[in-house]
Amino acid sequence: MTQKVHSILLITGDQLSLTLAALRTSDKATTRVLMAEVRPEATTAKHHKKKIIFVFSAMRHFAEELRGQGWHVDYVKLDDAANTQSLASEVKRAQSRHGAEILQTTAPNDYRLRRELDFITQLPDDRFFCSDKEFADYAKAHHSLRMEFFYREMRRKSGLLMNGPDPVGGRWNFDAENRKPAKGERNFPTPPHFEPDTITQQVIELVKHHFADHYGLAEPFWFGVTRQQAAKAFQHFLRHGLPHFGATQDAMLEGQYYLNHSVISLYLNFGLLDAREICCAAQAAYQSGEAPLAAVEGFIRQILGWREYVRGIYWLKMPGYLQSNALGATRPIPDFYWSHNTEMNCMAQVFRQTHDEAYAHHIQRLMITGNFALLAGLNPAQVHDWYHAVYIDALEWVEAPNTIGMALHADGGLMGSKPYAASANYINKMSDYCGSCRYDPKQRLGPDACPFNALYWNFIATHHQAFSRNPRMSQTANSYQKMSAEDKSAIKTQAEGFLASLKAYQE
Ligand SMILES: Cc1cc2nc3c(=O)[nH]c(=O)nc-3n(C[C@H](O)[C@H](O)[C@H](O)COP(=O)(O)OP(=O)(O)OC[C@H]3O[C@@H](n4cnc5c(N)ncnc54)[C@H](O)[C@@H]3O)c2cc1C
Ligand code: SF4
Repeated sequence: MTQKVHSILLITGDQLSLTLAALRTSDKATTRVLMAEVRPEATTAKHHKKKIIFVFSAMRHFAEELRGQGWHVDYVKLDDAANTQSLASEVKRAQSRHGAEILQTTAPNDYRLRRELDFITQLPDDRFFCSDKEFADYAKAHHSLRMEFFYREMRRKSGLLMNGPDPVGGRWNFDAENRKPAKGERNFPTPPHFEPDTITQQVIELVKHHFADHYGLAEPFWFGVTRQQAAKAFQHFLRHGLPHFGATQDAMLEGQYYLNHSVISLYLNFGLLDAREICCAAQAAYQSGEAPLAAVEGFIRQILGWREYVRGIYWLKMPGYLQSNALGATRPIPDFYWSHNTEMNCMAQVFRQTHDEAYAHHIQRLMITGNFALLAGLNPAQVHDWYHAVYIDALEWVEAPNTIGMALHADGGLMGSKPYAASANYINKMSDYCGSCRYDPKQRLGPDACPFNALYWNFIATHHQAFSRNPRMSQTANSYQKMSAEDKSAIKTQAEGFLASLKAYQE
């Protein structure tokens, strides 16, 4: 029986949720769901092969799931002859194919796409705890936009880890009990690996063929691509990782890619897991005594706090946000971000796992590759392009504030009251990378000195005036000020020598 189609409902690659607003309010009998794999969405940033495989395979599985539930779905594959390779024109093509009167979607979480699809009715994306409007209202009502206060507001609103008006345990934040180094520990859970099925195998071949020049390894591919697999991965984390989450949150170990991290950002960002369900499950683990409060609070804060906060900042500050460059950083990104050709062991370790698995945990992104980019004064737009391309969970709304705001301090301190700048001392304390590095983390000058040290002090010197007015940086600025003229000059020479040796990346 042919379907009388009144309405075309577009579902994009990061909207793979059965609870989607546009699905909830549509009628299966008269709606044609449209999903399309289009080239620009995979190439606007030259995304990691594993990321394209994950998204296309998850989309194909989701289309099957919808069909299983009685939806009529038009699925346009990347290499379909008629594919126009644009979401907007695929919507128009579907409209004329079916003679539909109504075009609708759930508001895209990407600024460019939201504009490109502005001829379609866009329902609010209510998968987040905080809507764009709510965050804008919050920003208007608060002088400071620090995450911690926004997070408390979200705790009150959601009721998560609350005892009436008070936080469970009497404190909002248990960070002081978290964040220990993990040297010597080796007993970490491995995220469950899922065997690629026929659909995923086909997508792997497609990606190897069409995106051969993209970054990273396509195989082995083991990420989940269905809601059931994502749920299994999360359950595994709940049982094995969550109880130890906070304690090893900032630790870094050679060869240990995941430690006790959840590896669920890809499932959350693309719609296979629901943020509310995840936070409630973590809370339940605390209530049943399966995980301590410090770990559970730390984990919930990442999702209810940081994830919601960066999304709010993105929509508050776009479109200008991507051009932010408060520290005037102009150095081109070095070639080794893509080639990995560096003797700095910490950087090489993070690059290797990024290339192989499209994953690095938060502190690797922030305090290794991000810290280097900050200290070396790398161009924020180029650094943003890199992070957007190489990580499997990277969507602009979550990646850009983390890179431009948190890692590079390029938003002028909107997100952080001080830059996350660190010398080798921090990396040596929190990781075991320095042990097998050709550089010495304790030396500041000379051929064996760790580059992070001179770069750190050179960074402080460059922004000395601004930092001396910042209460959280003034002590460091004063320490620099007290150095002898010879020391200052030697640091400058060491840092400039190293920076001059960097080969700029040429596409
Ligand atoms: C420079 C830089 C770039 C980043 N780019 C991205 C990105 O493109 N996509 C992305 O999802 N995250 C990004 N992050 C945040 C964070 O690093 C990842 O969410 C996290 O590493 C994902 O791994 P996980 O699932 O094992 O996280 P866990 O450590 O297990 O944390 C649990 C969850 O909390 C959320 N979360 C934690 N920290 C943040 C944060 N700062 N912002 C938003 N959500 C957070 C994620 O959904 C994550 O899955 C970036 C951080 C930095 C410093
Ligand atoms: S010595 Fe410096 S470059 Fe080498 S691993 Fe340690 S921090 Fe990184």
